[in-house]
Amino acid sequence: MASTESTESFDLLAIAAHRDDVELTCGGTLSKAVRAGHRVAILDLTQGEMGTRGTADIRAAEAQRAAAVLGVSVRENLQLSDAAIVNDPPTREKLARVIRRLRPKIVIAPALQGRHPDHIASAQLIRDACFLSGLAKLAPDSVKHRPRKILHSIAYRQDFVRPSFVVDVSDDFERKLEAIRCYASQFEGETQAGEVYPNGEPLLDVVRHYGAYYGTLIRRPYGEPFLTTEMVRVDDVLALEVSTF
Ligand SMILES: [Zn+2]
Repeated sequence: MASTESTESFDLLAIAAHRDDVELTCGGTLSKAVRAGHRVAILDLTQGEMGTRGTADIRAAEAQRAAAVLGVSVRENLQLSDAAIVNDPPTREKLARVIRRLRPKIVIAPALQGRHPDHIASAQLIRDACFLSGLAKLAPDSVKHRPRKILHSIAYRQDFVRPSFVVDVSDDFERKLEAIRCYASQFEGETQAGEVYPNGEPLLDVVRHYGAYYGTLIRRPYGEPFLTTEMVRVDDVLALEVSTF
């Protein structure tokens, strides 16, 4: 477990399979939430030991630097097996115990579909652990807690699922790229990472183009897309942003 292990309760907890996943998919949203005064934490499920480049130690240092760039002070690692994440009862309980300790109101999880098996397994594992964490009889030595909402970050998906909403990250996009740049051991000269399919351009350029594309959906420079399986409620239609024409 990382040295920054926390017992605070958090507003927002971003959980993903590998170090660098959250920077790529929701780094702008995390940075923006921190600037808004929310308590934000990151939980990486694996140490990335199966990655082609860099060692787990180098990646740990890179991950802490990237979190600092985003303003996130707590980043933990669940130390599941990289490229072998399974959604079984012991793993669900292990994750539920961390959710109970961090007590997040909102959890960000990967998309339910993806190119990496760990991403797909993580998405359902996180949903299940969030639910089970609210059952008093699971691990009764810890206090139950169920996050109110799960947001699936669906950036880079190629199945063209319509996002439930897009977060305006225009003021945080350069910070997101700076956080991604912290992973020098992985990304130097790379054109592909995580769910980002390569087009021959440097990785950061591809990430920028995607961010700009999601931005156009909300008429802003940069955006990050999310999907919720539940409906988003609107109370005042006159407060709706984004013009039709
Ligand atoms: Zn990943």
